[in-house]
Amino acid sequence: MTQRQSTKPAVPGEEITDKVLVWSLRSNLCPACKGLKRAHNTLCPPCYRSLPYGLRNALYDRLGQGYREAIQAALAHLKKSVFYATEARP
Ligand SMILES: [Zn+2]
Repeated sequence: MTQRQSTKPAVPGEEITDKVLVWSLRSNLCPACKGLKRAHNTLCPPCYRSLPYGLRNALYDRLGQGYREAIQAALAHLKKSVFYATEARP
């Protein structure tokens, strides 16, 4: 058994897959601070409110139409990401 699970550590700026984005959207876990958020919202209210207007607006783009770039920019601004921690969950 040489195959390893994809439990990479969080690397800021590393590409976030669509699977992770969809998982995060459906979950109640904020990808920036691990706080509670509503399903189908990208971030919890405090994280969302701390973003500048342009970054907030970009989060309404659709998957494949700039959403990944938008969320990466948002997480870079917040300087936090638990995407890879959440990806490793069952
Ligand atoms: Zn948050």
